[in-house]
Amino acid sequence: MVVNNKVRYALVTGGSRGIGRAIAERLARDGYSVVINYKSNDTAAQEVLQKILQEGGQAELLKFDVTSPTAIQEAYTSWCAAHEGAHFDVLINNAGIRRDGLMVFMEDQDWADVMRTNLDSFFYLTKLVVNPMIRARRGRIVNITSISGVTGLPGQVNYSSAKAALIGATKALSKELAARKITVNAVAPGFIATDMTAELDESELKKTIPMGRFGQPEEVAALVSFLVSDEAAYITGQTINIAGGIG
Ligand code: NAP
Repeated sequence: MVVNNKVRYALVTGGSRGIGRAIAERLARDGYSVVINYKSNDTAAQEVLQKILQEGGQAELLKFDVTSPTAIQEAYTSWCAAHEGAHFDVLINNAGIRRDGLMVFMEDQDWADVMRTNLDSFFYLTKLVVNPMIRARRGRIVNITSISGVTGLPGQVNYSSAKAALIGATKALSKELAARKITVNAVAPGFIATDMTAELDESELKKTIPMGRFGQPEEVAALVSFLVSDEAAYITGQTINIAGGIG
């Protein structure tokens, strides 16, 4: 997307698979130059990149581990150096993991990994990306949380905590940035068909979903596309469930 002779860049964390991939592809079709972050799956990331380029869109890869503040800083600095005068107009904090288990049996590492990936990453990355947005007096931040953070789910004390905290952060940051015309919203998916839910018993779980089915990543991407559009300029600090009636 070129506005006033400037390319508009959108950074999608965890853009190599699942919901992040669908968001990256959708934002590319919307006209953004998409920066696809991922951690390790080079093949999947290349696939998304090639698909976008073949469809005539603009995209590039930016590999870094969102759990490492140093890696975030280095990746951000090198991207800025390679794109003089540019900044991210859109940030989608999507990268996430789950490490489920009842809390009494939960390993310290499973608590720490989930908090670092789903929550700390938001803090370290957004802090950097938001600065030029403030100067530009325009920006869109969407945090991918979960229905688990809205209702709480057994076996997910770590994940529900991280996702609930992300909702709190969304509300607080939206109030800090509203006067600068930057919106900050959260999207809370229910069960979406991705690698993350691949080993779940879909036939049992869909009985608990009023719509009777898992959602598709493209359905989440459509909502994100709207939230980052100019038309959504007056929506901020909100958490929008996309969960087939759960929540
Ligand atoms: P997924 O299919 O497992 O994909 C995860 C993505 O995140 C991959 O691109 C992965 O990169 C990336 N990633 C993981 N750890 C990372 C790290 N440390 N640094 C950089 N990238 C990292 O997951 P998904 O189902 O699409 O979930 C996306 C988001 O939606 C997550 O925040 C998740 O919590 C949330 N969500 C999902 C569901 C669902 O039902 N699927 C429901 C509610 C919320 P690699 O390819 O390199 O591994």
